[in-house]
Amino acid sequence: AMKRSGKNGVQFYDPAMNAEAQARLRLETRLRLAISEETLGIHYQPQVDVATGALVGLEALVRWTDTDLGVVSPAEFIPVAEDTGMIVALGSWVLDEACRQAAEWQLDVPMAVNVSPHQLIRADFVDVVRAALRRHALAPHLLKLEITERLSLGDPGRAAQHLAGIERLGVRLSLDDFGSGQSALASLMALPLHEVKLDRTLLVGVTADPQSWQVVAALLALARGLNLPVVVEGVETAAQLDALRTMGCGSVQGYFTGRPQRPSELRGIVGHAAS
Ligand code: C2E
Ligand code: MG
Ligand code: MG
Ligand code: MG
Repeated sequence: AMKRSGKNGVQFYDPAMNAEAQARLRLETRLRLAISEETLGIHYQPQVDVATGALVGLEALVRWTDTDLGVVSPAEFIPVAEDTGMIVALGSWVLDEACRQAAEWQLDVPMAVNVSPHQLIRADFVDVVRAALRRHALAPHLLKLEITERLSLGDPGRAAQHLAGIERLGVRLSLDDFGSGQSALASLMALPLHEVKLDRTLLVGVTADPQSWQVVAALLALARGLNLPVVVEGVETAAQLDALRTMGCGSVQGYFTGRPQRPSELRGIVGHAAS
C-alpha cells in the first residue's frame, strides 16, 4: 500500500498508529489544554471515624470534564499525565487548590492530597509543598500527602530524603493502596508514615463469612502493632462497616459514608469539622 506523506516527506498520518494510540494522543493533547486553562476540578471525599461517625479527614480527588471527551476518569488520565511529565504541573495545581480549600473551610481535620512518585523525586518537591502551605496559611499538620509505590523510580534514596523533609515540615504522610500488591511490607518500617490506607480491592469479595475477612483483619492487626492509624477504603455497605467496627478499624472512606463531592455539596459536612 502507498503511504501518504506531507510536504517534506514527513508523514502526518501514520497508518500503523492504531486506534488506541490515536485515542491516547488525543487524550494527551486535551489534558495539556486542561492543565493550561485550569479547567480541572477537585472533588472531596470524607474520611469518617468508625466508632463515632465524626469526620476525620477529606481526600482531594482530581476531576476532569473535557468539552470533547466528556468526563475522563483519573484512572485513565493520571497514568498519561505521569508518562508525559504533565503530572508535575497537575499535581502542583491540585496541592495548591486543596490547601486553599482547606484554609477557606477552616478545617481542623487534615486534607489528604495524592502525590505521584514523579512529583516526589523532584528536587523542588519539599519547597513546592512548603510554598503551598505558606500561600494559604495552612498549618502543616492539616495537610496529609498520600504516597504510593505504583512505580519504583530510579533513586529510592532521593525519595526517602524528600519524605524526611516533608516530615520535618510537620506534614503527615499516608501510604495509599496498601495491600494492592503494589506496596511492600518493608515500606511500613522504612518510611516516616503517619497512616496506612487499605486498598479497596481488599473489600471486593468479602462476605458475611468471617473467613473472608482474614486478610483485612491481619492487616489491621499489623498496623495496630506498628502503631499506625488505618483508613480502610472502598466501604460500600452497612455490613462492611459493621464488620470493620467489630475488628476495631479506626476510620473508613467509601461510598457508604460519603462519595467524593464537589466543594459546594460539602459545606454542611465541613461546617462541623471547622474550628
Ligand atoms: P486513590 O487515591 O486510592 O483514591 C480512592 C479512589 O477510590 C477514588 O477514585 C475514589 O473515588 C474511589 N472510591 C472511594 N470510595 C469508593 C467506594 O466505596 N467504592 C469504589 N468502587 N470506589 C471508591 P478516583 O477519584 O477515580 O481516583 C482514582 C485514583 O486516581 C486515586 O486512587 C489516585 O491514585 C489517583 N488520583 C486521583 N486524584 C489524584 C491527584 O490529584 N493526583 C494524583 N497523583 N493521583 C490522583
Ligand atoms: Mg489516595
Ligand atoms: Mg487509595
Ligand atoms: Mg486506590
